[in-house]
Amino acid sequence: MNPTAELTIRFAAFAGVLAAMALWELVAPRRSWVVGRAARWPSNLGIVAVDAVTLRLLIPTAPVGAALIAEARGFGLFHWLGWPTLVAGLIGFVVLDLVIYGQHVAFHHVPWLWRLHRVHHADLDVDVTTGVRFHPIEILLSMVVKIAAVALFGIPAAAVVAFEVVLNATAMFNHANVALPAAVDRLARLIVVTPDMHRVHHSVVRSETDSNFGFNLPWWDRLFGTYRAAPAAGHKDMSIGLPVFRDGRELRLDRLLTQPFRAPADPNDAAPMRAGEVRRS
Ligand SMILES: [Zn+2]
Repeated sequence: MNPTAELTIRFAAFAGVLAAMALWELVAPRRSWVVGRAARWPSNLGIVAVDAVTLRLLIPTAPVGAALIAEARGFGLFHWLGWPTLVAGLIGFVVLDLVIYGQHVAFHHVPWLWRLHRVHHADLDVDVTTGVRFHPIEILLSMVVKIAAVALFGIPAAAVVAFEVVLNATAMFNHANVALPAAVDRLARLIVVTPDMHRVHHSVVRSETDSNFGFNLPWWDRLFGTYRAAPAAGHKDMSIGLPVFRDGRELRLDRLLTQPFRAPADPNDAAPMRAGEVRRS
């Protein structure tokens, strides 16, 4: 695949899913907004631009580049085993998803990684743009992990591109402030993480924050016992975000970028919140 076509596919998928979910949220929002879009979207989309520029400058070799190099040199498990590209691609896709699940668990349980990842969780509403709101250092680390997995397993380049496009799309889908009809959600949850499943992960209640780590395939949470069907307070009444960073100013782009370096690291240090509370000062 030539680089222009690849970039076009990536951007079209990003813009298409963003537009579709934004429209769905407008027509049938799942929860009433706590802060809304105007105060959040410039920062949430701004950090995507910062992430893209940071990646370009610091890691010009994306995972797909690593896949092509591994392919050319016959490096990586699937090349050593001599598996057909289709089989290696399908298994590679699932392997990458498991790696991302494991990485997400680590980002919750290792204190300095949590400082980076809590930028994603400090959003006071969860919507389509929350799905792409990650600190640039988390994005860089995640890239290094993906590149290592792609090289070690020798995952085919097409599978890597497909995985990244699908992960980006499902992350925006399952952060959206929407709900599938209950019966559809029950079935969809067998193969993909749905908005109602992932919203539990953005609860202010720590035991709920530390559940439903999957972004794409829902199987890992069931397999490793981190699955929670619904938030205890219900989807409409649950409180979103973290006990820290509830001040409205914390939604600014410059504040998002400095959150990892400010105390407290442990959200449980802060005072408990009432449902839906936003502190302003
Ligand atoms: Zn998380």
